[in-house]
Amino acid sequence: MEKQKKFDVIVLGGGPAGYVAAIRCAQLGLSTACIEKWLDKKNKPVLGGTCLNVGCIPSKALLDSSHHFEFLTKESKAHGIEATVSLNVTQMLERKNKIVAGLTQGIAGLFKKNKVDWLKGSGKIVGKKEVTITHHDGSTSTVCGNNIIIAAGSNPVSIKTAQTDDKSVIDSSGALSLSEVPDSLCIIGAGVIGLELGSVWRRLGSKVTMLEAAPEFLPTTDVAISKEAYKIFKKQGLKIQLNSKVTATNYLEEKVEVHYENKEGQQSTTFDKVIVAVGRSPNTENLGLDTVGIKTDVRGFVVVDDKCHTGVDNIYAIGDCVRGPMLAHKASEEGVAVAERIFGQSPHVNFNTVPWVIYTWPEIAWVGKNEKELKEANRKIRVGTFPFLASGRAHAMGSTQGFVKVIADEITDTVLGVHIIGPNASELISEAVLAMEFGASSEDIARTIHGHPTLSEALHEASLAVESRTIHY
Ligand code: FAD
Ligand code: AMP
Repeated sequence: MEKQKKFDVIVLGGGPAGYVAAIRCAQLGLSTACIEKWLDKKNKPVLGGTCLNVGCIPSKALLDSSHHFEFLTKESKAHGIEATVSLNVTQMLERKNKIVAGLTQGIAGLFKKNKVDWLKGSGKIVGKKEVTITHHDGSTSTVCGNNIIIAAGSNPVSIKTAQTDDKSVIDSSGALSLSEVPDSLCIIGAGVIGLELGSVWRRLGSKVTMLEAAPEFLPTTDVAISKEAYKIFKKQGLKIQLNSKVTATNYLEEKVEVHYENKEGQQSTTFDKVIVAVGRSPNTENLGLDTVGIKTDVRGFVVVDDKCHTGVDNIYAIGDCVRGPMLAHKASEEGVAVAERIFGQSPHVNFNTVPWVIYTWPEIAWVGKNEKELKEANRKIRVGTFPFLASGRAHAMGSTQGFVKVIADEITDTVLGVHIIGPNASELISEAVLAMEFGASSEDIARTIHGHPTLSEALHEASLAVESRTIHY
């Protein structure tokens, strides 16, 4: 019989939570194994989880490609660039696949470099220190770990009223691999993922309708930002219908009939394709959690404390399978913190400064609290805003939509939230995150020299606006 392998740490799942935790554990000198079951389309085992394979990276690759296409078809003339443009979706998908393959191989390389043992297959906890792996060839083995980190991630939520068939009705993964541009496309759910995928296919030529059950658009976003976004996206051609709950889908020969309910009653429209983007749910079934007494909440998230401890001996859980925002960077930060805690350090994850980003164009990004949340908490605040229309760099780029909004405490001037809709908001938000992490006041940002001409001057000016002393607006 083969001797059972023993590790200081076993990580279950190799997404941005798990692979980062594993690398940090190994850096600290802990013997570490990471169990990952993902197979790519060619049945090759790969690391990186949702983020690298069917999430952050492929979606951004297609968002960038489609952004270039839209620039060439709609905007380049204004720059004096006239081009004959044709679209090759196969090439676009190949580029995306190549990027994904390169990055997933990169993680395998990092595992080698850091001496993380990648155990390929599906893991299940069978004891407080034991995990059984069912390998891709059907064989099984059991490994032993003094600590276990559960990083099993999440899956797309499916709804009975629009069952995916991988052909006409697809989930977010399918939407990243459509081989041609559908003439008409319905997206169920106008959340972050729906908006990004809707933007990709709209830019490439689809007529996109988004059916959103909720009455509000982007309800967790600052109201001023969501209002502006709604206006801009509608103008771009995204047909966003709020208060529209999908009740059934009928598969016709090459099309899908979508039935939905709105204020006027029952409606139905026919589309070429339907993307279901109604959120994600934790992947916590079949992990053997019951065997060792690990609890899950009503929605299936592993119950953990603020240190990601499950309450069961040396077993932790991180990333999408626990409470908090389902974001890759939050998952990775938890991974680092748990690794350091296992090693005996006292790390801390500041959940108040997790940045949120929506990669539409203009992009949307924020950190901290929004105006409504602060008013509901009776906080006295001062708000400064600055439009990109008054930014020289935004004009040079030809991207002047949106604004920056800085919210500070009325008395202490501490920055409580920064909300951006505008070009490169995804990058601009990092300065605000850092400012908040250091407990900066709006005056601190206002007195910081920003390069000219840069988009970051809009954050500078919005901070000046908190004291009603903008220069350029
Ligand atoms: P996952 O990435 O889901 O990884 C979990 C891993 O565990 C998977 O590889 C899975 O195969 C493995 N696993 C599960 N069970 C087992 C088992 N029993 N045995 C072995 N392995 C197992 N977030 C952002 O921050 N920015 C973005 O721009 C962004 N864009 C997104 C776009 C799309 C279309 C989608 C779908 C998601 C996006 N996300 C984005 C969310 C992001 O992908 C997740 O928050 C992130 O992947 C969570 O990391 P994780 O490691 O917790 O889970
Ligand atoms: P997110 O959680 O950001 O991924 O967004 C998912 C969105 O899908 C939410 O805004 C939900 O309100 C929406 N949603 C869920 N079920 C339905 C449905 N049956 N019809 C339309 N929208 C839905």
